[in-house]
Amino acid sequence: MKDKILRLLKENNDHFLSGQGISDNLGVSRTAIWKYINSLKEEGYVINSSSKKGYQLISCPDLLTADEIGDKLHTKFIGKEIVHFQSIDSTNNKAKELAAKNTSQGTVVIAEEQTLGRGRLGRNWTSPKYKGIWLSIILKPDTNPMKVPKITQIGAAAVIESLKSLKIDAEVKWPNDIVIKGKKVCGILTEMSGELNRVNYVVMGLGINANLQKNDFPENIIDKATSLSIESNSNIDRKTLVSTLLFKFEELYEEFDKEGIIKTSVDICRKNSAIIGKDIKIINREQETFAKALDIDDNGELIVQYKDGSIEKLISGEISIRALNGYI
Ligand code: ADP
Repeated sequence: MKDKILRLLKENNDHFLSGQGISDNLGVSRTAIWKYINSLKEEGYVINSSSKKGYQLISCPDLLTADEIGDKLHTKFIGKEIVHFQSIDSTNNKAKELAAKNTSQGTVVIAEEQTLGRGRLGRNWTSPKYKGIWLSIILKPDTNPMKVPKITQIGAAAVIESLKSLKIDAEVKWPNDIVIKGKKVCGILTEMSGELNRVNYVVMGLGINANLQKNDFPENIIDKATSLSIESNSNIDRKTLVSTLLFKFEELYEEFDKEGIIKTSVDICRKNSAIIGKDIKIINREQETFAKALDIDDNGELIVQYKDGSIEKLISGEISIRALNGYI
Protein backbone atom coordinates (compact mmCIF):
# COMPACT_ATOMS: atom_id res chain seq x y z
CA MET A 1 0.00 0.00 0.00
CA LYS A 2 2.81 2.38 0.88
CA ASP A 3 4.18 2.08 -2.66
CA LYS A 4 0.75 2.89 -4.11
CA ILE A 5 0.43 6.01 -1.96
CA LEU A 6 3.92 7.04 -2.98
CA ARG A 7 3.09 6.56 -6.65
CA LEU A 8 -0.02 8.73 -6.31
CA LEU A 9 2.00 11.43 -4.56
CA LYS A 10 4.68 11.31 -7.25
CA GLU A 11 2.15 11.55 -10.07
CA ASN A 12 0.50 14.55 -8.40
CA ASN A 13 3.47 16.35 -6.95
CA ASP A 14 2.44 19.71 -8.42
CA HIS A 15 -0.54 19.99 -6.05
CA PHE A 16 -1.98 18.79 -2.76
CA LEU A 17 -3.92 15.51 -2.66
CA SER A 18 -6.62 15.33 -0.06
CA GLY A 19 -6.56 12.49 2.47
CA GLN A 20 -10.14 11.69 1.46
CA GLY A 21 -9.16 11.56 -2.20
CA ILE A 22 -6.34 9.10 -1.54
CA SER A 23 -8.62 7.11 0.70
CA ASP A 24 -11.32 6.84 -2.00
CA ASN A 25 -8.79 6.05 -4.68
CA LEU A 26 -7.02 3.25 -2.80
CA GLY A 27 -9.75 2.04 -0.49
CA VAL A 28 -7.90 2.53 2.81
CA SER A 29 -8.83 4.60 5.86
CA ARG A 30 -7.51 8.13 6.35
CA THR A 31 -5.79 7.01 9.56
CA ALA A 32 -3.95 4.29 7.66
CA ILE A 33 -2.87 6.85 5.05
CA TRP A 34 -1.61 9.17 7.79
CA LYS A 35 0.49 6.28 9.17
CA TYR A 36 1.93 5.43 5.76
CA ILE A 37 2.77 9.09 5.16
CA ASN A 38 4.62 9.23 8.49
CA SER A 39 6.53 6.13 7.59
CA LEU A 40 7.49 7.67 4.22
CA LYS A 41 8.67 10.80 6.03
CA GLU A 42 10.85 8.62 8.26
CA GLU A 43 12.43 7.14 5.11
CA GLY A 44 13.41 10.63 4.00
CA TYR A 45 10.52 11.71 1.77
CA VAL A 46 9.68 15.36 2.35
CA ILE A 47 5.89 15.65 2.32
CA ASN A 48 3.87 18.77 3.12
CA SER A 49 0.87 17.86 5.25
CA SER A 50 -2.03 20.20 5.86
CA SER A 51 -5.19 19.22 7.69
CA LYS A 52 -7.21 21.24 5.17
CA LYS A 53 -5.44 20.52 1.89
CA GLY A 54 -3.96 17.05 2.41
CA TYR A 55 -0.52 15.92 1.26
CA GLN A 56 2.03 17.08 -1.30
CA LEU A 57 5.31 15.38 -2.10
CA ILE A 58 8.18 17.88 -2.08
CA SER A 59 11.22 15.66 -2.54
CA CYS A 60 12.38 12.05 -2.57
CA PRO A 61 15.41 10.74 -0.68
CA ASP A 62 18.59 9.74 -2.50
CA LEU A 63 18.03 6.04 -1.83
CA LEU A 64 18.43 3.05 -4.12
CA THR A 65 15.13 1.44 -3.16
CA ALA A 66 12.75 -0.32 -5.53
CA ASP A 67 10.38 2.65 -5.13
CA GLU A 68 13.05 5.08 -6.29
CA ILE A 69 14.65 3.03 -9.07
CA GLY A 70 11.53 1.26 -10.35
CA ASP A 71 10.12 4.33 -12.15
CA LYS A 72 13.24 4.61 -14.26
CA LEU A 73 13.89 0.93 -14.87
CA HIS A 74 12.95 -0.49 -18.27
CA THR A 75 14.31 -4.02 -17.99
CA LYS A 76 12.57 -7.33 -18.58
CA PHE A 77 13.88 -9.31 -15.62
CA ILE A 78 16.98 -7.70 -14.12
CA GLY A 79 15.93 -5.65 -11.09
CA LYS A 80 12.24 -6.52 -11.33
CA GLU A 81 12.80 -7.58 -7.74
CA ILE A 82 15.01 -5.23 -5.71
CA VAL A 83 15.95 -6.09 -2.12
CA HIS A 84 17.23 -2.95 -0.41
CA PHE A 85 19.18 -2.55 2.83
CA GLN A 86 20.35 0.54 4.65
CA SER A 87 23.33 -1.45 5.85
CA ILE A 88 24.51 -5.00 5.29
CA ASP A 89 27.72 -6.99 5.66
CA SER A 90 28.06 -7.74 1.94
CA THR A 91 25.50 -7.66 -0.89
CA ASN A 92 27.16 -10.74 -2.42
CA ASN A 93 26.67 -12.66 0.84
CA LYS A 94 23.01 -11.70 0.99
CA ALA A 95 22.47 -12.45 -2.69
CA LYS A 96 24.04 -15.90 -2.27
CA GLU A 97 21.78 -16.58 0.70
CA LEU A 98 18.71 -15.55 -1.32
CA ALA A 99 19.80 -17.40 -4.46
CA ALA A 100 20.14 -20.62 -2.47
CA LYS A 101 16.50 -20.17 -1.40
CA ASN A 102 15.14 -20.21 -4.94
CA THR A 103 15.01 -16.45 -5.46
CA SER A 104 14.39 -15.75 -9.12
CA GLN A 105 17.01 -14.80 -11.70
CA GLY A 106 17.45 -11.05 -12.02
CA THR A 107 16.84 -10.24 -8.35
CA VAL A 108 19.11 -7.38 -7.28
CA VAL A 109 20.38 -6.83 -3.74
CA ILE A 110 21.35 -3.21 -3.05
CA ALA A 111 22.77 -1.72 0.13
CA GLU A 112 23.46 1.90 1.02
CA GLU A 113 26.49 0.68 2.97
CA GLN A 114 28.48 -2.54 3.26
CA THR A 115 30.22 -3.17 6.55
CA LEU A 116 32.24 -6.10 5.20
CA GLY A 117 32.34 -5.41 1.44
CA ARG A 118 34.60 -7.89 -0.30
CA GLY A 119 36.94 -7.90 -3.27
CA ARG A 120 38.53 -11.04 -4.66
CA LEU A 121 40.68 -13.37 -2.57
CA GLY A 122 39.19 -12.08 0.67
CA ARG A 123 40.34 -8.50 0.07
CA ASN A 124 38.10 -5.82 1.47
CA TRP A 125 36.00 -3.31 -0.46
CA THR A 126 35.39 0.14 1.05
CA SER A 127 31.65 0.91 0.80
CA PRO A 128 30.63 4.02 2.76
CA LYS A 129 26.98 4.90 3.31
CA TYR A 130 24.99 6.66 0.53
CA LYS A 131 28.20 7.33 -1.41
CA GLY A 132 28.39 4.46 -3.85
CA ILE A 133 26.48 1.82 -5.71
CA TRP A 134 26.92 -1.46 -3.91
CA LEU A 135 24.79 -4.12 -5.55
CA SER A 136 24.66 -7.78 -6.49
CA ILE A 137 22.67 -9.47 -9.25
CA ILE A 138 21.42 -13.05 -8.94
CA LEU A 139 21.75 -15.02 -12.18
CA LYS A 140 20.85 -18.60 -13.01
CA PRO A 141 22.43 -19.29 -16.39
CA ASP A 142 21.94 -22.70 -17.94
CA THR A 143 25.63 -23.07 -18.72
CA ASN A 144 28.84 -24.82 -17.87
CA PRO A 145 30.65 -23.50 -14.72
CA MET A 146 33.75 -22.91 -16.87
CA LYS A 147 31.86 -20.17 -18.72
CA VAL A 148 30.89 -18.24 -15.59
CA PRO A 149 33.97 -15.96 -15.55
CA LYS A 150 32.62 -14.47 -18.80
CA ILE A 151 29.88 -12.82 -16.76
CA THR A 152 32.50 -10.51 -15.24
CA GLN A 153 33.28 -9.22 -18.76
CA ILE A 154 29.57 -8.60 -19.32
CA GLY A 155 29.45 -6.61 -16.07
CA ALA A 156 32.53 -4.62 -17.03
CA ALA A 157 31.08 -3.77 -20.45
CA ALA A 158 27.77 -2.71 -18.88
CA VAL A 159 29.62 -0.37 -16.50
CA ILE A 160 31.65 1.17 -19.36
CA GLU A 161 28.50 1.72 -21.42
CA SER A 162 26.53 3.26 -18.59
CA LEU A 163 29.40 5.60 -17.71
CA LYS A 164 29.47 6.69 -21.35
CA SER A 165 25.84 7.79 -20.95
CA LEU A 166 27.17 10.14 -18.24
CA LYS A 167 29.92 11.23 -20.63
CA ILE A 168 32.54 9.63 -18.40
CA ASP A 169 35.29 7.71 -20.16
CA ALA A 170 36.56 4.73 -18.22
CA GLU A 171 38.68 1.68 -19.02
CA VAL A 172 38.57 -1.99 -18.14
CA LYS A 173 41.51 -3.37 -16.26
CA TRP A 174 41.01 -7.00 -17.15
CA PRO A 175 39.44 -8.97 -15.65
CA ASN A 176 37.36 -7.24 -13.02
CA ASP A 177 38.16 -3.59 -12.43
CA ILE A 178 37.10 -0.35 -14.06
CA VAL A 179 39.59 2.48 -13.89
CA ILE A 180 39.70 6.15 -14.77
CA LYS A 181 43.12 7.61 -15.51
CA GLY A 182 44.66 4.56 -13.88
CA LYS A 183 42.66 4.73 -10.67
CA LYS A 184 40.07 2.17 -9.67
CA VAL A 185 36.49 3.42 -9.72
CA CYS A 186 34.63 0.10 -9.77
CA GLY A 187 35.28 -3.52 -8.88
CA ILE A 188 33.38 -6.62 -9.90
CA LEU A 189 33.21 -9.83 -7.89
CA THR A 190 31.56 -12.81 -9.56
CA GLU A 191 30.86 -15.82 -7.37
CA MET A 192 29.19 -19.10 -8.17
CA SER A 193 27.62 -22.15 -6.66
CA GLY A 194 27.58 -25.18 -8.88
CA GLU A 195 28.58 -28.74 -9.53
CA LEU A 196 31.05 -30.09 -12.07
CA ASN A 197 28.88 -29.45 -15.11
CA ARG A 198 25.99 -27.46 -13.71
CA VAL A 199 25.57 -23.96 -12.33
CA ASN A 200 23.18 -23.55 -9.41
CA TYR A 201 23.48 -19.80 -9.34
CA VAL A 202 25.86 -16.94 -9.99
CA VAL A 203 26.08 -13.74 -8.01
CA MET A 204 27.73 -10.78 -9.70
CA GLY A 205 28.61 -8.02 -7.27
CA LEU A 206 29.43 -4.51 -8.41
CA GLY A 207 30.90 -1.73 -6.35
CA ILE A 208 30.92 1.67 -8.04
CA ASN A 209 32.48 4.65 -6.32
CA ALA A 210 29.86 7.21 -7.28
CA ASN A 211 29.98 10.14 -4.87
CA LEU A 212 32.92 9.28 -2.63
CA GLN A 213 35.29 12.13 -1.89
CA LYS A 214 39.02 11.78 -1.19
CA ASN A 215 38.53 11.52 2.57
CA ASP A 216 36.06 8.63 2.16
CA PHE A 217 38.90 6.34 1.06
CA PRO A 218 41.22 4.69 3.57
CA GLU A 219 44.78 5.99 3.56
CA ASN A 220 46.24 2.89 1.87
CA ILE A 221 44.14 3.18 -1.31
CA ILE A 222 43.85 6.94 -1.61
CA ASP A 223 46.38 7.02 -4.47
CA LYS A 224 44.91 4.15 -6.47
CA ALA A 225 41.17 4.71 -6.04
CA THR A 226 38.87 7.43 -7.34
CA SER A 227 35.17 8.16 -7.76
CA LEU A 228 32.91 9.30 -10.58
CA SER A 229 32.21 12.47 -8.64
CA ILE A 230 35.91 13.31 -8.22
CA GLU A 231 36.62 12.62 -11.90
CA SER A 232 33.62 14.46 -13.33
CA ASN A 233 33.54 17.23 -10.76
CA SER A 234 29.82 16.72 -10.29
CA ASN A 235 27.33 14.93 -8.11
CA ILE A 236 26.29 11.59 -9.61
CA ASP A 237 22.60 10.71 -9.77
CA ARG A 238 22.91 7.19 -8.35
CA LYS A 239 19.31 6.19 -9.19
CA THR A 240 19.67 6.97 -12.90
CA LEU A 241 23.05 5.25 -13.02
CA VAL A 242 21.68 2.07 -11.42
CA SER A 243 18.76 1.90 -13.84
CA THR A 244 21.00 2.51 -16.87
CA LEU A 245 23.47 -0.06 -15.62
CA LEU A 246 20.85 -2.76 -15.08
CA PHE A 247 19.36 -2.04 -18.51
CA LYS A 248 22.73 -2.30 -20.28
CA PHE A 249 23.65 -5.39 -18.30
CA GLU A 250 20.41 -7.15 -19.26
CA GLU A 251 20.94 -6.35 -22.93
CA LEU A 252 24.48 -7.78 -22.91
CA TYR A 253 23.63 -10.71 -20.66
CA GLU A 254 20.90 -11.87 -23.04
CA GLU A 255 23.50 -12.49 -25.76
CA PHE A 256 25.25 -14.86 -23.35
CA ASP A 257 22.07 -16.46 -22.05
CA LYS A 258 20.56 -17.09 -25.51
CA GLU A 259 23.61 -17.66 -27.69
CA GLY A 260 26.31 -18.58 -25.19
CA ILE A 261 28.61 -15.83 -26.50
CA ILE A 262 29.85 -12.51 -25.14
CA LYS A 263 31.08 -10.95 -28.35
CA THR A 264 29.44 -7.55 -27.86
CA SER A 265 30.74 -7.30 -24.29
CA VAL A 266 34.25 -8.33 -25.30
CA ASP A 267 34.26 -5.76 -28.10
CA ILE A 268 33.44 -3.07 -25.54
CA CYS A 269 36.09 -4.35 -23.10
CA ARG A 270 38.67 -4.55 -25.87
CA LYS A 271 37.94 -1.08 -27.21
CA ASN A 272 38.14 0.37 -23.72
CA SER A 273 40.96 -1.73 -22.32
CA ALA A 274 43.43 -0.20 -19.88
CA ILE A 275 46.06 -2.86 -20.53
CA ILE A 276 46.06 -4.03 -24.16
CA GLY A 277 49.40 -3.15 -25.72
CA LYS A 278 51.02 -2.56 -22.34
CA ASP A 279 53.70 -4.34 -20.38
CA ILE A 280 52.08 -5.96 -17.39
CA LYS A 281 52.82 -7.97 -14.31
CA ILE A 282 50.66 -11.06 -13.84
CA ILE A 283 50.08 -12.04 -10.24
CA ASN A 284 48.83 -15.58 -9.78
CA ARG A 285 48.80 -16.57 -6.13
CA GLU A 286 52.28 -15.60 -4.90
CA GLN A 287 53.86 -15.85 -8.33
CA GLU A 288 54.67 -12.80 -10.45
CA THR A 289 55.38 -12.98 -14.19
CA PHE A 290 56.07 -10.20 -16.66
CA ALA A 291 54.41 -10.12 -20.07
CA LYS A 292 52.82 -7.90 -22.67
CA ALA A 293 49.01 -7.81 -22.95
CA LEU A 294 48.22 -8.41 -26.63
CA ASP A 295 44.45 -8.73 -26.86
CA ILE A 296 41.28 -10.17 -25.37
CA ASP A 297 39.77 -13.04 -27.35
CA ASP A 298 36.07 -13.55 -28.01
CA ASN A 299 35.80 -15.76 -24.92
CA GLY A 300 37.01 -12.92 -22.72
CA GLU A 301 40.43 -14.48 -22.14
CA LEU A 302 43.51 -12.26 -22.02
CA ILE A 303 46.17 -13.06 -24.61
CA VAL A 304 49.66 -12.32 -23.31
CA GLN A 305 53.15 -12.70 -24.68
CA TYR A 306 56.06 -13.57 -22.39
CA LYS A 307 59.62 -12.33 -22.72
CA ASP A 308 60.66 -15.57 -24.49
CA GLY A 309 58.07 -14.89 -27.19
CA SER A 310 55.60 -17.57 -26.12
CA ILE A 311 51.93 -16.68 -26.13
CA GLU A 312 49.31 -17.75 -23.58
CA LYS A 313 45.63 -17.14 -22.92
CA LEU A 314 44.70 -16.32 -19.34
CA ILE A 315 41.32 -17.15 -17.80
CA SER A 316 40.32 -14.54 -15.24
CA GLY A 317 39.95 -16.78 -12.17
CA GLU A 318 42.21 -15.49 -9.45
CA ILE A 319 44.70 -13.61 -11.57
CA SER A 320 45.52 -9.97 -10.85
CA ILE A 321 47.19 -7.68 -13.34
CA ARG A 322 49.36 -4.65 -12.71
CA ALA A 323 50.87 -2.30 -15.25
CA LEU A 324 54.53 -1.72 -14.67
CA ASN A 325 54.07 1.82 -13.54
CA GLY A 326 51.28 2.69 -11.14
CA TYR A 327 48.31 0.67 -10.01
CA ILE A 328 46.99 -0.42 -13.37
P1 ADP B 1 42.91 -6.42 -7.19
O1 ADP B 1 42.55 -5.11 -7.80
O2 ADP B 1 44.11 -6.35 -6.33
O3 ADP B 1 42.95 -7.54 -8.19
P2 ADP B 1 40.22 -6.78 -6.14
O4 ADP B 1 39.74 -6.60 -7.52
O5 ADP B 1 39.78 -7.97 -5.40
O6 ADP B 1 41.80 -6.79 -6.11
O7 ADP B 1 39.82 -5.49 -5.29
C1 ADP B 1 40.15 -5.36 -3.91
C2 ADP B 1 41.16 -4.25 -3.71
O8 ADP B 1 40.63 -3.00 -4.16
C3 ADP B 1 41.47 -3.96 -2.23
O9 ADP B 1 42.54 -4.75 -1.80
C4 ADP B 1 41.83 -2.47 -2.20
O10 ADP B 1 43.17 -2.27 -2.56
C5 ADP B 1 41.01 -1.90 -3.34
N1 ADP B 1 39.76 -1.24 -2.87
C6 ADP B 1 38.98 -1.50 -1.80
N2 ADP B 1 37.90 -0.72 -1.76
C7 ADP B 1 37.97 0.09 -2.85
C8 ADP B 1 37.15 1.11 -3.39
N3 ADP B 1 35.98 1.48 -2.82
N4 ADP B 1 37.55 1.71 -4.52
C9 ADP B 1 38.71 1.36 -5.15
N5 ADP B 1 39.52 0.40 -4.70
C10 ADP B 1 39.16 -0.23 -3.56
